[in-house]
Amino acid sequence: MALRIGAAAAPGRAPDNKTGSWRVFMPIVDMEKCTHCGTCTLACPETAVSDEDGEIRFDLDYCKGCGVCANECPAKAIKMILEEN
Ligand code: SF4
Ligand code: SF4
Repeated sequence: MALRIGAAAAPGRAPDNKTGSWRVFMPIVDMEKCTHCGTCTLACPETAVSDEDGEIRFDLDYCKGCGVCANECPAKAIKMILEEN
């Protein structure tokens, strides 16, 4: 996506802007601690978290490793770990 000086980027996640390439740290979840409160799915700025079939899943094409989900999880069930390449 080309941005001109003074232009504003459209809000939200664009499907063609796979922000997963920015990631250095990745989230992991301890399902023993997760209460399925839904906070992480709402807090993720990339809408990269989903709660499917009782499992918290991270879409690594879009997860940019910002750690917002881990910060906001009231159960402290999400940790950020250094991603090995
Ligand atoms: S915020 Fe934490 S407790 Fe809530 S659904 Fe996400 S991982 Fe589970
Ligand atoms: S670290 Fe968490 S909040 Fe940040 S983009 Fe990845 S899944 Fe979303």
